[in-house]
Amino acid sequence: MTDCIFCKIAGGRIPAEVVWQDEHAMAFRDIQPLAPVHVLFIPKRHLETFAELADGGGAVLLSLARGIKEVVVSEGLTRTGYRILSNNGPDAGQEVLHAHIHLLGGRDLGPMLTETKG
Ligand code: AMP
Repeated sequence: MTDCIFCKIAGGRIPAEVVWQDEHAMAFRDIQPLAPVHVLFIPKRHLETFAELADGGGAVLLSLARGIKEVVVSEGLTRTGYRILSNNGPDAGQEVLHAHIHLLGGRDLGPMLTETKG
């Protein structure tokens, strides 16, 4: 998609600090990090939400999992741990409408959500 910022990063049309990539997916540092390690994993082809990977996205899913595994090691998170999450749609506050997974680590990340349950 021509006006999608993550498609532009995937196509090399705007810069990003890329930390990993293969044929199907790539990972780069978040421009506004919320933790010492904050990396975004994206499919190179445009998909709006993570659930769309259910339609023929098997190779992409495997790439994303392999990329996460490699970056966890290269960023030194194996022992201390990390969190992965994907915001999808308005209730989750998804800002960029290109499917992505956040990898966060390098400090105590606290509870999963800050607000009360339910
Ligand atoms: P989300 O709210 O899950 O859609 O998260 C989108 C993320 O993309 C935010 O954490 C932004 O800081 C990040 N972001 C937006 N533009 C860029 C960019 N050009 N390079 C790196 N990260 C970006």
